[in-house]
Amino acid sequence: MCFVYNADPERGQEWQRLFAQHAPELPFRLWPEVRDPAEVRYLGTWEPVDALERFANLEIVFSLGAGIDQFDLAAIPSHVPLVRMQEPGIVATMQEYVAMAVLALHRDLIDYLGQQRMGIWKPRRVRPAAYRSVGILGLGQLGAAVAERLSGLGFPCRGWSRTPRQLAGVTCYAGESALGDFLAGSEILVCLLPLTERTRGILDATLFERLPRGACLVNVGRGAHLIDADLLQALDRGQLSAAVLDVCDPEPPPADHPLWHHPRILLTPHVASMTQPESAVAMVLDNIARHRAGREMVGVVDRRRGY
Ligand code: NDP
Repeated sequence: MCFVYNADPERGQEWQRLFAQHAPELPFRLWPEVRDPAEVRYLGTWEPVDALERFANLEIVFSLGAGIDQFDLAAIPSHVPLVRMQEPGIVATMQEYVAMAVLALHRDLIDYLGQQRMGIWKPRRVRPAAYRSVGILGLGQLGAAVAERLSGLGFPCRGWSRTPRQLAGVTCYAGESALGDFLAGSEILVCLLPLTERTRGILDATLFERLPRGACLVNVGRGAHLIDADLLQALDRGQLSAAVLDVCDPEPPPADHPLWHHPRILLTPHVASMTQPESAVAMVLDNIARHRAGREMVGVVDRRRGY
């Protein structure tokens, strides 16, 4: 029996050390060093792995990220649960990134970067966070934590989810029918949705029209949530005033793509949050113990919902 790790080899060394420390009885292999396919009991992977049927004793696939849209769910044997990362490290780093992005937009940092490059000294009016409402698409593990952090900074927060949620200090909206009301009061819109059939392309011209004029966008979900051409048009027309994008489709964008050079876009290379080995290994080992004891695991993907 062994756990196989298939992702960044450098972080894999850390995982190996942590497994040796916390679960010395469970052999750990760094992909592709699998000696016998029959020994693979647990697979932790960022990328999909082909032909999983060859691992006859596979019991759990762990996605090493919070999202699972990179996997073809039909290619994972139906008796094998897919478990995504729900661990404090991913949450903490996402809270930091979104706070940074929202504060940068709120305090006109994109304008000041442009002004600095042109040698322009021009102050803009400053208003406290209480005057700027933030809307968060997705109120799951990450969206809820981000709302809590932004509320703490003084931003009035609203959130949108598929099923009704109740979060202290957050005005919650659920379902397609509530999307318009939610958007109408979102001056900075943060996308923290999973990529599914229903959410692909959701950040399009129609949605941008429903935001207050001059709203800003932070996309930390997936690149395929966004229709790039619609964003560029909305920015050029002034319907949107700026965007911070951590994800795009494809990653990276082609060298001549306007996302690289648009003066009102800040682009980062999919670094908003990252799985942290210490807390992720603890989560994986806890889930393995739960599975062995016949208890429910944390973060099991609902194949019908697609997230
Ligand atoms: P969760 O599954 O915990 O939360 C997803 C949220 O989205 C839930 O509130 C869910 O509603 C809502 N949702 C899903 N589908 C719909 C829909 N059709 N309409 C309305 N709401 C919907 O996911 P996480 O918070 O853990 O992660 C969210 C995403 O963040 C990931 O899937 C990934 O794409 C992205 N991500 C990006 C990272 C980066 O570095 N840029 C890092 C980590 C994640 P409900 O509550 O009703 O289920």
